Amino acid sequence: MSATVTYKCPNCGAGLVFDAEKQSFSCDFCISSFTEDELRLSGADKRAEEAERAEDEFRSELREYHCDSCGAEILTDKSTVADFCYYCHNPIVLSDRVSGAFRPTKIIPFKFDKDEAKKIFRDYCKKKWFLPKDYFSPEHSDKICGIYYPFWVVDADSSAGMNAKARKVRSWRQGNYRYTETSHYAITRRANIHFEDISSSAISTEDKAMLEGILPYPTDEYLDFSIPYLQGYQAKKRDLSREDLTEDVRGKMTSYAESLLSSTVVGYSSVDSKSTSVSVEKSHWEYALTPIWILNYMRKGKNYLYAMNGSTGKIYGELPVSIPKLAILGGLVSLAVGIVSFLIGWGML
Ligand SMILES: [Zn+2]
Ligand SMILES: [Zn+2]
Repeated sequence: MSATVTYKCPNCGAGLVFDAEKQSFSCDFCISSFTEDELRLSGADKRAEEAERAEDEFRSELREYHCDSCGAEILTDKSTVADFCYYCHNPIVLSDRVSGAFRPTKIIPFKFDKDEAKKIFRDYCKKKWFLPKDYFSPEHSDKICGIYYPFWVVDADSSAGMNAKARKVRSWRQGNYRYTETSHYAITRRANIHFEDISSSAISTEDKAMLEGILPYPTDEYLDFSIPYLQGYQAKKRDLSREDLTEDVRGKMTSYAESLLSSTVVGYSSVDSKSTSVSVEKSHWEYALTPIWILNYMRKGKNYLYAMNGSTGKIYGELPVSIPKLAILGGLVSLAVGIVSFLIGWGML
């Protein structure tokens, strides 16, 4: 094998680690191991070379921008010019080379263009009170940016098991006595579970509340990635590899398996000391870009993020409150109270 080729697991695509003692390549994710001959027969060496070629080609089609103010790193395709930072609105500079960008395999394209996104934002503002005037000014809404966010999306076949202890308590009265009978059960459940589209953000610093606010994406909207989808939009660079998210994904599988298996344990007075294990037999990871319209508003050193799912239109908004507007309303309320008490006072005279 050539030194530059990094083998990927034929079962799940995770990076393989060479075990010198066993003289084999092992996968930590699906717990399997392969000899070099097995890997070559499975075509893993050819796939590794192809993947490297695709990565190089992808990088050559991109531009990378850097924001000196907030550190945001933005990718665009070569025909798209980005001049200000979508987040802090400062000018961004073109980096001389694209580094550490990885080619996605799937993408959900934007469903709303910028005019539609602005209109939805304005309609959203209309229903809200107390917003500062410049929040819904055309200059502000014009800063709305279409950003592709990176996610890892995982399908997996697994075998899961759960052990638990349970009790049934029965109580009855006979003559002057009350009897209580407690039966103890050891419960075992085994199941083969297929997981579909477990999604995890591929950016470590991302605003969790915002992402949770706009998720989910419709799973049937994923398309094979190609560069033209990026045209006119920006993409955030990922900084988490699938290896970084292995534990996170395992955790999601385990908690899902536990709730699924627990739902079959019924008819007991109590169930406790549950332990659940999931072993992954096969998995398939896609690195996907998903669309978000983002508009950030800064006021007195605080950020107020408005975001809209670019596929479903689901909105997340942290809204600034205008103090003068609140004060006017407060004034109106106290004036109304004043009139009412005046009337009451007058009526009583
Ligand atoms: Zn594997
Ligand atoms: Zn910035």
